[in-house]
Amino acid sequence: MLNIRYQLTENLKKKPEKGQPLGFGKIVTDHMFMMNYTEGLGWHDPRIVPYQHISLAPTAMVFHYGQTMFEGLKAYLDEEGRVRLFRPDMNAKRAINSNRRLCIPEIPEEDFVQAVKALVKTEKDWIPTEPGTSLYIRPFVIATDEFLGVAPSKTYLFMIILSPSGAYYASGLEPVGIWIEDDYVRAVRGGMGFAKTGGNYAASLAGQVKAHNDGYSQVLWLDGVERKYIEEVGAMNIFFVIDGKVVTPMLNGSILPGITRDSVITLCKSWGLDVEERRISADELIEAQKAGRLDECFGTGTAAVISPVGKLRYKDDVMEISGGKIGRLSQKLYDTVTGIQTGKLEDPFGWSVIVE
Ligand SMILES: *Cc1c(COP(=O)(O)O)cnc(C)c1O
Repeated sequence: MLNIRYQLTENLKKKPEKGQPLGFGKIVTDHMFMMNYTEGLGWHDPRIVPYQHISLAPTAMVFHYGQTMFEGLKAYLDEEGRVRLFRPDMNAKRAINSNRRLCIPEIPEEDFVQAVKALVKTEKDWIPTEPGTSLYIRPFVIATDEFLGVAPSKTYLFMIILSPSGAYYASGLEPVGIWIEDDYVRAVRGGMGFAKTGGNYAASLAGQVKAHNDGYSQVLWLDGVERKYIEEVGAMNIFFVIDGKVVTPMLNGSILPGITRDSVITLCKSWGLDVEERRISADELIEAQKAGRLDECFGTGTAAVISPVGKLRYKDDVMEISGGKIGRLSQKLYDTVTGIQTGKLEDPFGWSVIVE
């Protein structure tokens, strides 16, 4: 149990107006959580303080070698006015795995969840309630040693910040166009693709810029060795419906194990659908699409929940999927996952956690 110290401000910011577009990650709340790590002392001084800038030396290791970890989850206000989180224990467990890969000391699962709950409770009034909106929660760790040598830092800062976020799509689910990148790669097995860390995103930017310049909104990455097998989208895992079966790349070390991915697999299985976690080559996809066997394609991730894909480009092939519309399964999954998250639907798996 963390003994969290509270230093609250009375100088509260103006909250967004009802109906005002919130966007994503632009607005921050009044307070944030901070906790330091010092070798020999462990994690210490957990505190909730006014949101403020932090001061670091230019030699702070995070600026040079990218020793960082982050997480992302959301809080919702249900119809009874209670605060709900979606599977926060999974974020805490994944943070431990990311930290291990990056030689960052682990944050115990219960401390991570306690810190998230404490901050969200403090900032409850910031949770937006319009359909599709939520309070985005961003926990992260940075290495703070003042040292230009390459080694794991001996000091760290763990922080949590909150951002009220709008509906991902302005008008319902909108299918996106995806670019299958066959030159750049994001991650390789043995690297840190399974960890949620800034470096993977830095590696993805050049491909993303290329895709945007061509009018595609996201990149679908291929495996880093053969550049043949489908891995995942920038910040989403990817699913296909082929011959009525739900197919998604298996977790192989270079793919981020998404919590939405896990939830979608569990739901599909509970509905009696065949789910295959396996290798899928880009060629297999093209063939399936040409033979009319590729029924749906969608991405899964906390930000968009379910993101239907209407168009896939691979080399010279541009494939239209589901007639460029939202597939039946994509819509059903979106409705079910968001229904459970907001407490509107029954929660047979105990995923939705009420913050007392
Ligand atoms: C966060 C993330 C995802 C999605 O994970 P969720 O837990 O479902 O939000 C997928 N891919 C990458 C690279 C990510 O960083």
